[in-house]
Amino acid sequence: MNFRVGTGYDIHRCAEGRKLFLGGVEIPSERGLLGHSDADALLHAICDALLGAAGLGDIGTHYPDSDPRYKDAASILFLEETGRKLKESGYGIVNIDSFIILEDPVLRPHTPRMREAIAAALRISASAVGVKAKTNEGLGEIGRKEGIAAYAVALISREESR
Ligand code: MG
Repeated sequence: MNFRVGTGYDIHRCAEGRKLFLGGVEIPSERGLLGHSDADALLHAICDALLGAAGLGDIGTHYPDSDPRYKDAASILFLEETGRKLKESGYGIVNIDSFIILEDPVLRPHTPRMREAIAAALRISASAVGVKAKTNEGLGEIGRKEGIAAYAVALISREESR
């Protein structure tokens, strides 16, 4: 058995006048996240977990924020391409687990759609994608609603025929 694990983390600053995208889903919110792309911190953390597991570097290497092609890009496209890179490298995704840390809005009603969007982008089952949300109990910058962070873990395996 050839299993490999990877971890990912991301944080983006909250900003007025931006749409909030998390897990490939637009979430109704007064504030969004600042970033070169759509600033989807969860998808960025998941991309990093997958790339790390496969030994393929990190999201900044593949999708640099200095590249004008990625200005306001939908991060779900990064995830789709990351899934293709893993497949080309001979890896299949076993499962992903993740959590988002934010004070508001309440994400629980939206997590099923996030799981579906992530699973569809990676062509895996939604049962292999975990998305959880929790607050920072009012502590620190996340508690002050200055930012939203996300963590992800990915388990991948070498595909049989390789
Ligand atoms: Mg990011």
